[in-house]
Amino acid sequence: TVKEPLTVFNRLESEVRSYCRSFETVFVKGSNALLQDRNEKEYIDFFAGAGALNYGHNNPQIRSKLIDYLLEDGITHSLDMATDAKEAFLLRFQETILEPRGLDYKVMFPGPTGTNSVESAFKIARKVTGRTNIVCFTNAFHGMSLGSLSATGNAFKRGGAGVQLSGTTFLPYDGYLGPLVDTTALLEKLLQDPGSGLDTPAAVIVETLQGEGGLSAASGKWLRSLERICREHGILLIIDDVQMGCGRTGTFFSFESTGITPDIVCLSKSIGGYGLPMALTLIKPEHDLWQPGEHNGTFRGNNLAFVAASAALRYWEDDSLAGQIRDRSEIIADFLRRMASRYSDRIAESRGKGMIQGLAFHKPEDASRLCKLMFERGVIMETSGPRDEVAKLMPPLTIEDSLLKKGLQLLEAALSDLYE
Ligand code: PMP
Repeated sequence: TVKEPLTVFNRLESEVRSYCRSFETVFVKGSNALLQDRNEKEYIDFFAGAGALNYGHNNPQIRSKLIDYLLEDGITHSLDMATDAKEAFLLRFQETILEPRGLDYKVMFPGPTGTNSVESAFKIARKVTGRTNIVCFTNAFHGMSLGSLSATGNAFKRGGAGVQLSGTTFLPYDGYLGPLVDTTALLEKLLQDPGSGLDTPAAVIVETLQGEGGLSAASGKWLRSLERICREHGILLIIDDVQMGCGRTGTFFSFESTGITPDIVCLSKSIGGYGLPMALTLIKPEHDLWQPGEHNGTFRGNNLAFVAASAALRYWEDDSLAGQIRDRSEIIADFLRRMASRYSDRIAESRGKGMIQGLAFHKPEDASRLCKLMFERGVIMETSGPRDEVAKLMPPLTIEDSLLKKGLQLLEAALSDLYE
C-alpha cells in the first residue's frame, strides 16, 4: 500500500484543496456508485461529486453517446456557436423537461458552473427590475464568485474573500426561528414598512432544500408565500436548483411539487450528465433583455456536455427513474429515522428529501468522526451545515439497490461501533 498517497498534492497543489483531506487516497476509477483507488480498494460513493454525478460514474448509456460523438469528429468546443449537439440538447430539454411541465423558459448558457448560473441570474434580475438588492437566506450556498458569495451565508467562505460585499440582505430561511414562525411574514413586513431600511430587492434567491447549509427544507406553503410576496412587489423569484435539480429530490426540478413557478431557475452539476461542466439559467421570455454578447464566456459551448446532457435526459422520458428514486428515498428515510431514534442522545434528527438525506448530530465532531470512519470502511460521505454537524448521504440516483443497502449496513455498523 502507498503510505503517503498525497505527497505530490501536498507539495504542488495549493492549500485550498479540501476534499482530498477528508478522503485521503488517490482515486483511479469509477463505475456507477463505486469508486476505486490506487490500491484497488473500493468505495461506495454516497457523495456523487457533490451532486454532479446523479447518473453515476461512467454511466454506460451516456458514455456510448460520448464515444460515438468523438469517433465521428464531433466538435468539442464551440464558444456559443450553433452546433448539432447544442441544437439536439435544446430540443430535447424543451420536449422532455419544459413542455410536459407546462414551463415557458428561454435557456441561457451562462458559463460552465453553478456559480456562473447564479451570477447571471443576479445580473438579469437587476437589469429587468432596475434594482440592485438581492434577498437571500440564512445558511444559503450559491457559489464562489464575489456576487454569488455575497448571497452565501457561510462566514468562513465569505471571510476568505477578504471583503464584505454589499447589495444582499439575509433573512431567516424557513424553520430558522423554529417550526411555528413563518419567516416570510418578516419579508412582507419589511417591504411594507418605508422605515424598515430594506431596499426593495431585484430578486429573492432560494434553495428549496439547503444542500450545503445543513439539509433544511422549505415547505411548499412557505415557498408559495414567498412567490406571492415577490409577485406583489415585482421581485423576481430565483430558485437555485444547482444541487437539488436533475432529480435529486425526486422530481426533475425540486420545486415541481410545490406549485410555484420561479422567474429564474439556476441549474448545473448533473445537467451535464456525466460530470461534465455545464450550467443553464432558465429565464422567462419577457425577461430576456440581454443584448447579444452582453454575458460572454469562453466555455459556454462544451459540446461533450451537450451530448451527455441529451443522453441523460432520456432518464426523464418516462417515470422509471423517478419511481426508483422514490423507492430508494424511502429506504434511506426509514433507515435514517431508525438510526436517529436509536441514537437520539447523539443525533438530533434525520433530515432531507429524496436522495439527499442525512443525520444532524448534536455535536459537529460526531458527524465528522462518522464520515471519517465510513471512509476507512469504504464509503464516501460528506458533512454539511453551518457547523458541519450533518452527515450527508447523496448517492447517485442510479445506485444499485444492493449497493445502497450495503452502504447503509456499513453506516449502521459504524454507528454501533461508535456508540455502543
Ligand atoms: N448553488 C448551489 C445550491 C450549490 O450547491 C452550489 C455548489 N455546491 C453552487 C450554487 C455553486 O456551483 P459550482 O460549484 O458549480 O460553482
